[in-house]
Amino acid sequence: MKQLAYVRPRTVPEALETITTASNAKFLAGGTNLIDLIRNDVEHPDTVVDVTALPLADVTELPDGGVRIGALVRNSHLAAHPLIRTRYPVLTQAVLAGASAQLRNMATVGGNLLQRTRCHYFYDTSAACNKRTPGEGCAALKGFTRNHAILGTSPHCIATHPSDMNVALTALNATIETESPRGTRRIPIADFHVPPGTTPQVETTLTHDELITAVDLPALSAATNSRYRKVRDRASYAFALVSVAAALATENGQVKEIHLALGGVATHPWRATKAEEYLLGAPATEESFTAAASAELTNAIPHPDNKFKVELTRRTITAVLRDLV
Ligand SMILES: Cc1cc2nc3c(=O)[nH]c(=O)nc-3n(C[C@H](O)[C@H](O)[C@H](O)COP(=O)(O)OP(=O)(O)OC[C@H]3O[C@@H](n4cnc5c(N)ncnc54)[C@H](O)[C@@H]3O)c2cc1C
Ligand code: SF4
Repeated sequence: MKQLAYVRPRTVPEALETITTASNAKFLAGGTNLIDLIRNDVEHPDTVVDVTALPLADVTELPDGGVRIGALVRNSHLAAHPLIRTRYPVLTQAVLAGASAQLRNMATVGGNLLQRTRCHYFYDTSAACNKRTPGEGCAALKGFTRNHAILGTSPHCIATHPSDMNVALTALNATIETESPRGTRRIPIADFHVPPGTTPQVETTLTHDELITAVDLPALSAATNSRYRKVRDRASYAFALVSVAAALATENGQVKEIHLALGGVATHPWRATKAEEYLLGAPATEESFTAAASAELTNAIPHPDNKFKVELTRRTITAVLRDLV
């Protein structure tokens, strides 16, 4: 058993002081991912800085009609909040599609943003994994790839990003606010998660000493007509094979505004920009939706066990947009 130091700061400056001075320290929130990674010998912090006593657990309305979500808001609280349910139903649906009620009661928004892949070779320390040990190789490339990505992959890693919440946040143009010893930073979610490239161990643009404090959602009228659909191997308590988050506004039968993101198929929450470009101004019909989905999937690289994801993604995008019309 590995010895760990445990610290529970009460203020943000105290948390930042601890993360910079303690040896090999990591922030700990709900612990639903980090503790598993420590137990599985994948992550090895010497100190955990428990941030759950920090005053960052509120959902509040912003003056411009947007909403600010504190980094320590629990997933259950977020999904049930009236501001989220009425203005951003896609986010409520995405959060409720994840994990189990017990896990959602523990998991926080900050922790969910940073949860790590569910690639089984990543958790199996006897398998080669570039994400766990850079330069070691990737067992998935010649392994079982049913749960792996078809978009955003590299020859070094094909693991999917696992979160449901982050797919909805991507469709909604969320901005992540952080604090570090260098001050406050605001990061559009599109610039937060990064594709694996040659460094799959680097998953975000966050630095080690940077604390997520909040997530801001812009005022988005189309978001009231939004939806999340998750396709998975069983009805609950399973990660996505394919998921689609979408918000749509139409006028005179044409697409006026579209926000579309994919999960379960990509190495990071995937903004479907090609499909969005195709659809803006196009007829809001099933034919357009399928053509837009095909445009998004042109560069997909399937592997033997996940070829089905190409067609499944096309059909799921089409079905969600049809429902929104
Ligand atoms: C059995 C099981 C099933 C699951 N199913 C799903 C699912 O279907 N869909 C889904 O989306 N998720 C699923 N999850 C994942 C779950 O959503 C995540 O584990 C959870 O969101 C992580 O949040 P946490 O607060 O517990 O994070 P922690 O485990 O505490 O932390 C995760 C990471 O975030 C960092 N961190 C936490 N807070 C901050 C902060 N404020 N600033 C900077 N860094 C921070 C930690 O250092 C750590 O690296 C499942 C988990 C389990 C165990
Ligand atoms: S796909 Fe990525 S996480 Fe999975 S074994 Fe390969 S390098 Fe590791």
